[in-house]
Amino acid sequence: MLVLMNVNATEEQTQAVCKRVEEMGYRPHPLPGATRCAIGITGNKGAVEADALSQLPGVAEVIAVSKPYKLVSRDMKAEDTIVRFEGSDATIGGTELALMAGPCSVESRDQLFRVAEAVANSGARFLRGGAFKPRTSPYAFQGMGEEGLEILAAAREAFGLLVVTEAVDHESLALVEQYGDMIQIGARNMQNFALLKLAGRARKPVLLKRGMAATLDELLMAAEYVMSEGNYNVVLCERGIRTFTDHTRNTLDVSIVPAVKKLTHLPILVDPSHAAGKRDKVVPLARAGVAVGADGLIVEVHCDPDRALSDGAQSLYPEQFDAMAQNLRGIAELVGRTMYAPHPKAAGAGAAK
Ligand code: PEP
Ligand code: MN
Repeated sequence: MLVLMNVNATEEQTQAVCKRVEEMGYRPHPLPGATRCAIGITGNKGAVEADALSQLPGVAEVIAVSKPYKLVSRDMKAEDTIVRFEGSDATIGGTELALMAGPCSVESRDQLFRVAEAVANSGARFLRGGAFKPRTSPYAFQGMGEEGLEILAAAREAFGLLVVTEAVDHESLALVEQYGDMIQIGARNMQNFALLKLAGRARKPVLLKRGMAATLDELLMAAEYVMSEGNYNVVLCERGIRTFTDHTRNTLDVSIVPAVKKLTHLPILVDPSHAAGKRDKVVPLARAGVAVGADGLIVEVHCDPDRALSDGAQSLYPEQFDAMAQNLRGIAELVGRTMYAPHPKAAGAGAAK
């Protein structure tokens, strides 16, 4: 159920509706829009008694939502969600393309600082890097843990980047929330409902990666888990799905981007690295992601990928990332997006003289 407030409804009227919803034993989710506020209602087993709400002052309409996902739906909020970060003007879901880059794993301070400096100079606003790694083999490198998070936090201060890093369980989620700027939930955990609920109670935005065999509905329901707990800053990510092809690690399902845009107000990023599996295919897939209308990219970059402790084969060299970032500007412009320019070189200084 969804309560649409009048365009000129007051804050007090919205609060009074929320209070009434709580008295009825349900949870209200006020989501302010550009022109009016909508209040989503969750926690109801059957139909909510619409009459009890439709007569309250300021209420325009009470609408039954038939889809299983409610808070993520465009019915609830017609305009795109723009995720913002405290102390930064970087956004996800606005006009500026969000560029996230960094190694698969944090391996040492020196390794992370070298790559962080490079990607910051190329225009990335977000530094990615796992300190807790969900690996297929229990014998593979599992990440540096809290020490890795300390290194990420130091790199944020040194280079002015926002930190995106993965949480794999209860304990790591609390640490990621403390040190990072954005909590990544990986493909393997997309349907870890206990973890999704915890992320929903966290105060930092969530980057939710599509499971490698998840449908669009399952992805949206996973996002609904996070939002239903009160965290409305969720960003989806397409990172490739498992198919019968063996020329890539995963098949990048670019078609999910317009499908997502139709059904939900949440932003979606494309991860060309985990889809490609090999460095030489990352750049073309990144171009496709921007062209199809993704709100940004998350790309693995490493200064010495042959010695990387995870995902070296799909990591770009910093020079490749830099060339890609410059090259994407043309495509971004065609689809009505801007890209952050950290210094005159990135702004195309040669042409501007
Ligand atoms: C990662 O970002 O390094 C990662 C493990 O991604 P995914 O969950 O998409 O496999
Ligand atoms: Mn990786």
